Amino acid sequence: MNFLELAETFAIMEKTTSRLELTDHLVLILKKTPSDIVDKIVYLIQGKLGPDYESSELGIAEKLIIKSLSLVSGHSLNEIQNKYSVIGDLGEVAYNILTNKIQTTLVHQLLTIENVFETLLKIAKVSGTGSLDIKLRFIVSLLNNSSNLEAKFIVKLILGNLRLGIADFTLLDAIALTFTGDKKNRRILERAYNVSSDLGKIALILSKGSIEDIQSISISLFIPIRPMLAERVSNPSEALEKINGVALAEFKIDGERIQIHKKGKRVELFTRSLENVTSNFPDIIKAFDNIETKDLIAEGEVVAINPENNKYLPFQSLMRRRRKYNIQEITAAYPVILNLFDLLYYNGSDKTHVTLLERRKLLAKLFGKQKKSDKIKLIDQINVSRIEEIEIYTEKALKNGCEGIMIKNPGSQYRAGAREWAWMKLKKEYSGEVTDSVDLVVVGALHGKGRRVGKYGALLLASYDAERDVFCTICKVGTGFTDNTLLTITDKLNKHVIKHKHPRVESGNTKMDTWFEPKIVLEIISPEITLSPVYTTAIDRIKPEYGLALRFPKFTGKIREDKSAEDATTVKEIFEIYRDQLK
Ligand code: ATP
Repeated sequence: MNFLELAETFAIMEKTTSRLELTDHLVLILKKTPSDIVDKIVYLIQGKLGPDYESSELGIAEKLIIKSLSLVSGHSLNEIQNKYSVIGDLGEVAYNILTNKIQTTLVHQLLTIENVFETLLKIAKVSGTGSLDIKLRFIVSLLNNSSNLEAKFIVKLILGNLRLGIADFTLLDAIALTFTGDKKNRRILERAYNVSSDLGKIALILSKGSIEDIQSISISLFIPIRPMLAERVSNPSEALEKINGVALAEFKIDGERIQIHKKGKRVELFTRSLENVTSNFPDIIKAFDNIETKDLIAEGEVVAINPENNKYLPFQSLMRRRRKYNIQEITAAYPVILNLFDLLYYNGSDKTHVTLLERRKLLAKLFGKQKKSDKIKLIDQINVSRIEEIEIYTEKALKNGCEGIMIKNPGSQYRAGAREWAWMKLKKEYSGEVTDSVDLVVVGALHGKGRRVGKYGALLLASYDAERDVFCTICKVGTGFTDNTLLTITDKLNKHVIKHKHPRVESGNTKMDTWFEPKIVLEIISPEITLSPVYTTAIDRIKPEYGLALRFPKFTGKIREDKSAEDATTVKEIFEIYRDQLK
């Protein structure tokens, strides 16, 4: 299949602002795709070269693209740089330059999806001395054989800024429609996706096989499972109502969720957004050496500690461990411990179908009694059945530096990717009268004035409507930013600028200077949620033409790097917080 066909589809999708139309275009291209490359098409549509956990990132600097474009076109580096300054997008620059080439190559090779994909993979994989030259050669060879449209999207893919606005849900709909003829089958695909985290693989299996093959996809070691999530409750009695009887209460530690996969001596770690972070935690990996099991998949919260008194440190300290270089020094400077709370796989068998109580017993057997490492602990847990017990335990958790407690149903299974009442979080802020932190996605911005010239002044934020897979605006935030955080956020946002409002953003009549692809998630506090004619969260649900808005929103300083846009606080949650406020 020619790459040009995909480039043409990308060009149409880029201009499409309706999610249904996007789905139609996806179905059209998937139908045309030969079955053995369906996975590759799916990854390319996602702007990737494989599932998230494999992290084949291209990581190419803009300078290398500019150099390649100069070599291919005969235009000078300066000319290209100047065009880039005016146009602001190297994909568009490539399109423009290859439309007006000074020199032409004699021999053209037709670009197929396979050879573009393979070359991109090679570019991602090559490392070591001389790798820059090799990368340059690969990029030049691709661009030499490209039309202007192909070049535009090859450059966007290489730079990781193909912004088509296609969410996993939309792709799942399109895959279900293409290969089963019925969108309803998305549910089955979704379950498979939750345990395999690989949309390309699902499309490939379906294109060659049947829905039964998808149903038989199961948990595999070293393939991260999408995590089970918690609903929020605002007081102990609300939690007890949902459980009926005895519940398990655990510390809710403010660190980072880690999924551990181990087989023999091999251990790998994945974050909640399925990123492989094995290399960031050599100390944790070593600690698992002492745990004798054939295999396991476990989950826990890794947290930075103060080595002098073993007290938990805030999330920000842990983030210092997330770097690529000088891992040894940083490991010594910021010690961490892992607090385990779940076991999903053990001794060759999937444990997600056994009860939490059973899973916890197994965990205790493996990690509990003899303390095999002071780096790995079982998370603090008790049984609760009365309001006072929960209150006392919450106090204890807060005194120990936790952000609250988790309350879990002991009879529940582990439901990958689901947010359900089997797990509930009771946080400090929810019990207070005023603040309540939520995680919201930045979808637009107004330019800064005065001291903020050159940065963004106010950011338009949105909650996530999980039922419809769209983002609904909820407030503009301009406070809580230091000069430094504003600079960091501006840099991050600049990578996601788009020309028009994103197709998955519902913003009513709100006008913005800049729009973004929904990617960056910020933690926000606000004293109150109010009705507003301006914002679209839960619009028409309480009063016609009114949505919900955060009053006096303030950024807490925490960029939720561990969350994707679809992990943001949902419209449903906002609605529930609003309702609780009225009680
Ligand atoms: P929040 O924004 O409240 O930190 P979240 O939105 O990241 O939470 P939730 O599913 O709402 O995710 O809350 C569960 C998260 O809390 C888990 O992903 C995990 O990182 C963390 N956590 C801390 N302690 C526990 C625990 N004992 N059991 C489960 N998760 C825990």
